[in-house]
Amino acid sequence: MLEIIMRWTFETWYHAFIAMFIFFNILYWGITFIGLYLFRYLEKYHGLHQVDNHFVRPGQQRKEIWQSMRSIFVFSLQGIAIQQGLAHGWFQISYGFNWWFVPQVALLFLWNEVHFYAVHSLLHTRFMIKQVHWVHHHSKEPTVYSTFSFHWIEAFLLGTVILLPLLIYPFQAAAIISLPVLSLIINLLGHCNYDFFSKNKPDHVLKFSYRHSMHHKEGKGNLGFLLPWLDILFKTDSRK
Ligand SMILES: [Zn+2]
Ligand SMILES: [Zn+2]
Repeated sequence: MLEIIMRWTFETWYHAFIAMFIFFNILYWGITFIGLYLFRYLEKYHGLHQVDNHFVRPGQQRKEIWQSMRSIFVFSLQGIAIQQGLAHGWFQISYGFNWWFVPQVALLFLWNEVHFYAVHSLLHTRFMIKQVHWVHHHSKEPTVYSTFSFHWIEAFLLGTVILLPLLIYPFQAAAIISLPVLSLIINLLGHCNYDFFSKNKPDHVLKFSYRHSMHHKEGKGNLGFLLPWLDILFKTDSRK
């Protein structure tokens, strides 16, 4: 089934664009709404706490949704580049499925950590924050809709995460798909503004939701995605 869908997707450039646009919309709306209801349930019945300093700007969520749709448009254009890369034999995908799926997902997850940290550090240089990254930081208090709320250049830079894996190794199709799915789930937890592990210290490995919330509130520090170690290594952790 997955092979049929992916072969159709990469048959022509416009198939790639349409399929990516639908895929990222299903991902964005599906995961956002599941998260929204789950967080409300946990808040009501299990005492889940929001991170302090509530300041959702008027009209912020509508803007985040519009900007997320623009990012999905950019990701869909990048889908055309992937289709062209596959058609010309520069990129490879394997349609087999076996136990190698698990280490491949782990490897792609770790690559995503490194890629995100590098891109996010670049976005926090004086020039890039003024010209590009301010769009994402307009959400001083992140919401479930902030996940793809980027300037188009930021969307493009983050979307390049998949290019290197496609170039160097024929990863299994299911592992390739798991990257945006996993990434958006972590992204949602990072922007929902809840502190899921309120008793742990900020640099605890599971405290990533809190860390990214604080990144939005302070506008600096905690540049990593899920793991705290690159921030600790390069001394960019916020410590609050
Ligand atoms: Zn930032
Ligand atoms: Zn953010």
